[in-house]
Amino acid sequence: MVLEPVVCPDCGSNDIVRHGRSSAGKPRYKCRNQDCQRSTLIRSYTYRGYLPEVKQQIVERTLNGSGICDTARVLNISPTTVIESLKKRSSSQSSQ
Ligand SMILES: [Zn+2]
Repeated sequence: MVLEPVVCPDCGSNDIVRHGRSSAGKPRYKCRNQDCQRSTLIRSYTYRGYLPEVKQQIVERTLNGSGICDTARVLNISPTTVIESLKKRSSSQSSQ
């Protein structure tokens, strides 16, 4: 059995527990970080934000003038994921 990492899209914590199922029948998870605003998350939704092609689309859309909320809605990811992706990108660029 392979355990894929589950990471909270809001706080980045991997302290995640199973929390029943969503209405679509997907496993639902719960973030255990007490400071985190997010109560539950679904892994497929969460994980998608970390795929390279999604990151690439985030960057392209942002360069084309799309807003963060707009990008998040179109790509079906959380706005926080968009912001985090852009933060990581800008910090790596500044070191050049
Ligand atoms: Zn969290």
